[in-house]
Amino acid sequence: MAENADRRPTELEEGTQAPRSGRPTPADEQLSAIRAFVDEEVGAYLATHAEHLYPDRLVARLRGLGAFGAAVSESYGGGNWPAPGTARLSYELARGWQSLAGLVGTHLKLCRLVERHGTAEQRTAWLAPMARGEQVFARAYHEQGVPHPAQLRTRVHADGRLYGRKGWVTNARHADRIVAIARAGDATVAVLTDPGRPGVEIGPELPRPGMLGISLAEVTFTGYEFDPDEDVLGGRGHDLTEALRTYDLTSYVARALGSADAVYEAALRHVRAAMGGRSPQARGAVNLRMGELTTCRAVMRTVWQSTTGTRPSLTSGEAKVFCTSALQELVRNAALLCGGAGYAGGEAALGRHYRDALALPIIGVPSDTLLSHIGDEALA
Ligand SMILES: Cc1cc2nc3c(=O)[nH]c(=O)nc-3n(C[C@H](O)[C@H](O)[C@H](O)COP(=O)(O)OP(=O)(O)OC[C@H]3O[C@@H](n4cnc5c(N)ncnc54)[C@H](O)[C@@H]3O)c2cc1C
Repeated sequence: MAENADRRPTELEEGTQAPRSGRPTPADEQLSAIRAFVDEEVGAYLATHAEHLYPDRLVARLRGLGAFGAAVSESYGGGNWPAPGTARLSYELARGWQSLAGLVGTHLKLCRLVERHGTAEQRTAWLAPMARGEQVFARAYHEQGVPHPAQLRTRVHADGRLYGRKGWVTNARHADRIVAIARAGDATVAVLTDPGRPGVEIGPELPRPGMLGISLAEVTFTGYEFDPDEDVLGGRGHDLTEALRTYDLTSYVARALGSADAVYEAALRHVRAAMGGRSPQARGAVNLRMGELTTCRAVMRTVWQSTTGTRPSLTSGEAKVFCTSALQELVRNAALLCGGAGYAGGEAALGRHYRDALALPIIGVPSDTLLSHIGDEALA
């Protein structure tokens, strides 16, 4: 049997292929190049570089591949990909390394925010360097125990400066700009901050089991001075309270599927190479486990597909809850199937996906919070 004879492409992969009727679009070609970069370079990089160090080389390659501009309009030099396209980008990067998907995904969400809410001057000044990846943005939104933007503790004080602390900021240490969400009077505003200027303190790297390489740190604003017209997204007092209460979690679903596919491939490779000459009992157990993995991945893919199209049957929240939880089981079962090689040595990427997968049900919106909303709506 050929090595990959039974490997069916996922829906996400199919989306990178040329449409039957015509040539591949520039977006298809760009996505294929990113897919090749993940296949050929990311694993090789991780095999020879410490996982906790910032991957300058990979970030430079992503810049060259136009990944940072995917969500930006063509008039600012971007690829103008709609949300399903950028979810496919998240999927591809997650197949290689969740940390890269986190870095690029955060930046792309901020590109969309700037495009949607920025003034004409801000869009002109910010979006072109964002699209080129010359200005990579991070976001300082979340505060623990604050369920609603109107209750944020980070505030613009009467002196016009920004004060407050954000607990977890992805890429805090290497971002060129950090968008901080804060209360200013009765409005929730997004302040564009320059982490190199006084009034922004980046804390030490937060210890964690996974999502390494791209920094994760607290950011404290200690009286950051800014221009309320130029540096507040949408201009002085532009209120984002309602905009911040609507969210799309499809990129996290795509990221779960990306890890699932990578883990599945690793398990399949290992089993094919290592199972010759095993006892019938071992082969039977492996078949069952492989069947379980295959079914789990297929259901995850179906769940993903159910969030797309004109009449999705699942919300992105429901799909995120399911797929991030299914991934935990899939990656545990794959590790079991590979034995020692699933934990150390042979299939080292599997261990990394396992550690990274632990964060997925938490980030964005935690699964329990989503389930509680889903239950609320069902009861209503
Ligand atoms: C790797 C990583 C990267 C991150 N990157 C960023 C970033 O770049 N920018 C940023 O702003 N933030 C970031 N975060 C923060 C992230 O968004 C929050 O950790 C996440 O939203 C969960 O919030 P919390 O930690 O305050 O958990 P809590 O709100 O304290 O929730 C903990 C648990 O309490 C329960 N719970 C809380 N509220 C409810 C509710 N309403 N209904 C039901 N149950 C509830 C649930 O069981 C929940 O899982 C990151 C976090 C991680 C781990």
